[in-house]
Amino acid sequence: MELTIQNISKTYPNGVEALKNVSLKIGNGMFGLLGPNGAGKSTLMRTIAALQDSDEGTITVGDIDVSKDKQSLREILGYLPQEFGVYPKISANDLLDHLAVMKGITDTKQRKEVVESLLYQTNLWEAKDQKLGTYSGGMKQRFGIAQALIGDPKLIIVDEPTAGLDPMERNRFHNLLSEIGENVIVILSTHIVDDVSDLCNNMAIILNGEVHLVGEPIQLIKTLDQKVWKGLIEKSDLVEIEKENDVISSRLYLGKVQVRIFSESPMQNGFESVNPEIEDLYFATINGLSIGGSE
Ligand code: ADP
Repeated sequence: MELTIQNISKTYPNGVEALKNVSLKIGNGMFGLLGPNGAGKSTLMRTIAALQDSDEGTITVGDIDVSKDKQSLREILGYLPQEFGVYPKISANDLLDHLAVMKGITDTKQRKEVVESLLYQTNLWEAKDQKLGTYSGGMKQRFGIAQALIGDPKLIIVDEPTAGLDPMERNRFHNLLSEIGENVIVILSTHIVDDVSDLCNNMAIILNGEVHLVGEPIQLIKTLDQKVWKGLIEKSDLVEIEKENDVISSRLYLGKVQVRIFSESPMQNGFESVNPEIEDLYFATINGLSIGGSE
């Protein structure tokens, strides 16, 4: 199955251009859409999920045209929205059962099997009779994935799933996502670089409604090989260094500033070459550096 996004643009009534001529091809496996808040990720996710229309462009999943055949799309879609509200007074078991009915699983015995298997898969079996209002953030997100998996979806969209989770919950959530079959399309929209580097075999960076980099993380990182330099500098030198170099990122470190710089030629003065990371790609893109490989 392939998801094809062609020339999608969207301007909201307030004039915000949330998506500008976005085109992407996404095949089976885990795809990371990485971008800062306000980049247009949710707008794109909602458009793919047929929850809102674009002004221009087309989206197809297999042979389904999303804007023309929303019903067919819904039958193959599992969606975990950014704001996933749960009914606080219902148990996980009862809500999953109800949602499974809504998805068309009307046979009681079959539904019981589906719900039980999802509760096991998301490690919520022990808490299945607890009211959802008592769940932790991580448990709610795992419940969110459980409901998104009802009915064997072929396209799964998870929008900012790990924002607000503590490291352990995030780890559990990553493990759960990575267990989803390889024969479905999973799109993970996130502003958290580690979500993408730990999980995704393909990725894109989106910024101000535009797609900037697309590819396999490993290949994309290779374009930065021998071109990322790290150094520890005095805070007072930062402005000068920024003027003279392509600074990818800088962060305070033990009272000094650790900077990472993009440079095609070797750097001296205490800078050392380091292995590039996805975070370098991301910050370089956000900071508008011309690193090669970008569109
Ligand atoms: P992200 O998910 O990457 O944070 P969004 O798609 O939510 O980005 O938002 C992209 C831009 O569109 C932002 O500037 C946001 O303020 C704006 N936006 C999102 N939804 C609406 C809306 N319903 N009406 C007007 N502007 C919106």
